Amino acid sequence: MYIVTEQMCQDVIGRDDAFTAIEEVFGAMARKDAYNFPVIREAIGHADALYGFKSGFDKAGLTLGLKSGGYWPGNMDKGLTNHQSTVFLFNPDTGQLQALVGGNYLTAVRTAAASAVSIAHLARKDSKVLGMVGAGHQAGFQLRAAAEQRDFEKVVAWNYHPEMLDKLGAIAAEIGLPFESVEREQLGAQADVIISITSAHDALMMKEWIKPGTHIACMGTDTVGKQEMDPQLIASATVFTDEIAQSISLGETQHAVAAGLITQDQITSIGHVINGTHSGRSSDDEITVFDGTGVGLQDLAVAAAATRLAVEKGIAQDISL
Ligand code: NAD
Repeated sequence: MYIVTEQMCQDVIGRDDAFTAIEEVFGAMARKDAYNFPVIREAIGHADALYGFKSGFDKAGLTLGLKSGGYWPGNMDKGLTNHQSTVFLFNPDTGQLQALVGGNYLTAVRTAAASAVSIAHLARKDSKVLGMVGAGHQAGFQLRAAAEQRDFEKVVAWNYHPEMLDKLGAIAAEIGLPFESVEREQLGAQADVIISITSAHDALMMKEWIKPGTHIACMGTDTVGKQEMDPQLIASATVFTDEIAQSISLGETQHAVAAGLITQDQITSIGHVINGTHSGRSSDDEITVFDGTGVGLQDLAVAAAATRLAVEKGIAQDISL
């Protein structure tokens, strides 16, 4: 049984490893070789914490396990990040615990890899301007991963708390991209690819602000009641997601579905595009949306990759129970 710490995950998992792991597991989900189990999420009545499990089994990758953790709003004052999680991997042949893997860094890289996979498969090849809506913890990971998918020439960004944009601007500078803070309408008018990664509960981007041909990765909405996009925008776009059941219940499409603007049969699993069973973008004018809701199988996929790489490098801690 291995222990793979947060630091080990950072040492062994790069963006390429995460991209490959996420692309493979999305493909397996669309082939029905991998499936997520129902999510459990509870307010535990202590420390204002939300705690839960995300779990699943990937028969193709032979990955069985769960991510356990949640949100502790008081952690920041203790010098810790508010989101805390740990992945447990089990041997699918015997049920024995195989590895305990730190889940905090992996959550950020797997979420960034999901939008990067969507950009790789759905954004126009000639996309030049990347629009970032949000500038929190995840946004930097998103920017770095997205920047590798197209020859972007510029980043335009908006955030609800404008003072947070400096940190995102520093990352853009580090990767050699000009960075401009803009209003949301301007962001829509300029961006070829938009990533939204906020904790908003109202539409931030309206349909009439978006150019034809834009690809939008909606990454912030992962809970009932959250929202980043105008439902009319969702209804006018071709919509892809990681998992349809999650998209319509707690993802970005929940509002368009509840308003009767779209039905679930108009939403495609991105795995079908990866597997070549859906052609993806059909024209340069089409607006494509990826609703990245975040599924347990993503966590298991990157945790399995981290364990494999940490064992190969001889840094995983081997203990017997
Ligand atoms: P964070 O707390 O570091 O940042 C929050 C971001 O939301 C900031 O940009 C902040 O300015 C913005 N924000 C806060 N209130 C807002 C409001 N009322 N309107 C608009 N923007 C507002 O959080 P983070 O770790 O960067 O996560 C961002 C979001 O992504 C969260 O909602 C989180 O739950 C979600 N998330 C999704 C996945 C996934 O797989 N889809 C994975 C991880 C996190």
